[in-house]
Amino acid sequence: MKKVVKFGGSSLADAKQVAKACQLIKADKTRQYVIPSAPGKRFEQDQKVTDMLINCYQLASSKQDFLGQLAQVKGRFQAIIKGLKLDLSLEEDFSQIKQHLNQKPQFDYVASRGEYLNGKILAAYLKFDFIDPYEYIFFNEDGYLNSYKTQKNMARRLSQSQFAVIPGFYGQAKDGQVKTFSRGGSDITGSIVAAACEADIYENWTDVSGFLVADPKIVAHPVPIKTITYRELRELSYMGASVLHEAAIFPVRSKGIPINIKNTNKPDDDGTWIVESTARKTDYIITGIAGKKGFCSLTVTKDLMNSEIGFCRRALQAFEDCNLSIEHMPSGIDTMTVVVHEDEFLDKEQAVVTRLHRLTNPDSIEIEADLALIAVVGRGMKDQLGTAARLFSALAKEHINIKMIDQGSSELNIIIAVAERDFENAIRAIYQTFVK
Ligand code: ASP
Repeated sequence: MKKVVKFGGSSLADAKQVAKACQLIKADKTRQYVIPSAPGKRFEQDQKVTDMLINCYQLASSKQDFLGQLAQVKGRFQAIIKGLKLDLSLEEDFSQIKQHLNQKPQFDYVASRGEYLNGKILAAYLKFDFIDPYEYIFFNEDGYLNSYKTQKNMARRLSQSQFAVIPGFYGQAKDGQVKTFSRGGSDITGSIVAAACEADIYENWTDVSGFLVADPKIVAHPVPIKTITYRELRELSYMGASVLHEAAIFPVRSKGIPINIKNTNKPDDDGTWIVESTARKTDYIITGIAGKKGFCSLTVTKDLMNSEIGFCRRALQAFEDCNLSIEHMPSGIDTMTVVVHEDEFLDKEQAVVTRLHRLTNPDSIEIEADLALIAVVGRGMKDQLGTAARLFSALAKEHINIKMIDQGSSELNIIIAVAERDFENAIRAIYQTFVK
């Protein structure tokens, strides 16, 4: 059995949390490879070290004094070292960072130092090898991960260390500079390492006991999700449910490695298992509900549209010409609706309308703003009679008007659009109907 464990920023925010994480690592000899984030917030108003470093970068690149902010970053790390009673000096690392900031600062290099330094501390405390991902995680010229080169090099390196700490969040760009993933990207590093060493489990330790069926800011005390498939998770994360970085499932998915989301502060909780496929039944027909506000719909109407060959292609061309990505496309016999992100759409609105007129010669075009999309996701919905009926009657009972319905043929999810003002009530009504 081999496990890769990733600890998020809140799990490593101060010496007490780091000690707790290291105790968990030491308690299980199969926890061989550790991926740390930078120290996160210790309390609500606190700052994440990554944000403090980004601030240093911003001050330095606008030629302002960054020394005070850098001293605060140093203070965070020194407090951890002191709290752990470690004999480790980061003086040289900080003078290098200072020198870098004084010359021509590079954003990704500066932002990545939180993980780098935290990794050094953990490696020293655990007495594990330290592996700098700069040498083993590679990006292509287009900025995307070079999976092939990364997997090959990382696998070779890991085979030489039985126990190691590999800082999260960054690797090497094609031009030799440090390059980070997008925010929260240490999750991706953990997944890369798990795939490279062919781990049995990728444990992702955070400050919640896994995914919840609905957003706790909307539904009071929602139940946790015990098991979720990669595909269900994709649907939910895309719709805004966030615990794990969206891209983190890809490396492990290709090797069939399950992810277990665990709570550092409640290690005995089962957490959530993210798996490729499972025979386990969900406790409820649905696995989760997630949603987002900020959408617009544009409905094109034209009589006999159904018999006009190429109509949809030409209509979509208008969006492509305006460089707009589309979210959903429900259609009727003489109508076709395209749902887009409002913030991207507003500036281009009239350009899209003009282009649509030229390309499709419609009878009318109607735009509706302030829409929210809600995805009700669940492998348990497949072949289950009456799910849609229950969903729609739950909303009708609350007098919520459904503006659009989109059910994929996989029957894995039903997406509905409602007015933004109905968003929270709709989620609560769906939760109550399917869960309690
Ligand atoms: N420290 C980085 C961030 O705050 C990356 C991570 O924690 O995964 O986004």
